[in-house]
Amino acid sequence: MKLMFLGAPGAGKGTQAERISEKYSIPSISTGAILREAMANGSDLGIKAKEFIAAGALVPDDVVIGIIKERLAQADCNNGFILDGFPRTVPQAQALDEMGIDMDLVVSIEVNDEDIVERMGGRRLCSKCGTSYHIVHIPTKVDGVCDKCGAELMIRADDKPEVVKDRLVTYHKQTAPLKDYYNAKGKLTHVNGNDSIDAITEKISSAVDGIRG
Ligand code: AMP
Repeated sequence: MKLMFLGAPGAGKGTQAERISEKYSIPSISTGAILREAMANGSDLGIKAKEFIAAGALVPDDVVIGIIKERLAQADCNNGFILDGFPRTVPQAQALDEMGIDMDLVVSIEVNDEDIVERMGGRRLCSKCGTSYHIVHIPTKVDGVCDKCGAELMIRADDKPEVVKDRLVTYHKQTAPLKDYYNAKGKLTHVNGNDSIDAITEKISSAVDGIRG
């Protein structure tokens, strides 16, 4: 089962990818998380990615395509995977096609820009395991502490309001055209990202079950 989640930053791709990953026992692959880990480690990749991420721009296609090729070659992807945040441009989608990877389902999680800005203001991330929270919509049991691993929560540098605006512009210009790309292939389904988290998981699950037959 090869799934892809499309949507603006903060639409809930990561939250849903985590849930669907657990439900169907397939890995969720986030290029953003891989890049953040590289930045935290101070690797060459991290140093290269940092300036783009901090500016709300996209990391160059050849860099992220390289990351995805390496990641999808790992054994845990043999039974399928969820792509969360890749592809983000038409050339990235074409690279997947050239790799012979045919997605089973592409889910677009729709949230309007005003709601995205509100959501990003409240988003918090675990500094250790990367789990995503929201101070109102997905609160932790103990303030500022990750429910899963007990580490401290942080605010992503690129969730600052001025960067969020640039990320939204980038999304509409470079990533939103992917909806047409996958619609033309008959793979696209939409979900309303303003529904409850449980309702969205339900909708995605029924779409997945529908294509599994
Ligand atoms: P995310 O965690 O998916 O919101 O990604 C955070 C940031 O990492 C994005 O704003 C981009 O700068 C970069 N990034 C993640 N995935 C990609 C991708 N597929 N192509 C280019 N840049 C990416």
